[in-house]
Amino acid sequence: MSLECSGCHKLFKELNSGLKGTSWCDECFNYKQCAKCGNPITRNMVIVKTFEGKDYHAECFKCVACKTRIKKEPIVYDGKFYCQECGEPCGGCGKPIGMSFLEVFGKKWHEGCVKCVKCNRQIGDEQFYEEDGKPICAVCVDYDN
Ligand SMILES: [Zn+2]
Ligand SMILES: [Zn+2]
Ligand SMILES: [Zn+2]
Ligand SMILES: [Zn+2]
Ligand SMILES: [Zn+2]
Repeated sequence: MSLECSGCHKLFKELNSGLKGTSWCDECFNYKQCAKCGNPITRNMVIVKTFEGKDYHAECFKCVACKTRIKKEPIVYDGKFYCQECGEPCGGCGKPIGMSFLEVFGKKWHEGCVKCVKCNRQIGDEQFYEEDGKPICAVCVDYDN
């Protein structure tokens, strides 16, 4: 009985087992490995992404926030890949902004990062003002003046 290689689809007597029930011939198995999923990257998988000396399946090179394939250079934060949009730094904490954000003072902010620079209170729907590019609540602004 022969087995079919998940990479080149040729038949072999013995195969190496990969992840998720896949099987690979020696040649495919030893060619390259994806730094993300650990499965082999074989010669006939044409769309391979190489980043910082590591190889990835195009499928595995995705933004952790929006899950779409990263076509340009990724933004790397904490060892994770973000697309250009999701990787934009939050105006408050500087971490990648991800999918849900507020636009404040021409920057993107996590909702929870829109806090008063003085009293550190999270600002909801209420009115707020700007102090050195950071939000300040109406109470603290009045107190200052
Ligand atoms: Zn093969
Ligand atoms: Zn992969
Ligand atoms: Zn994204
Ligand atoms: Zn933030
Ligand atoms: Zn305040």
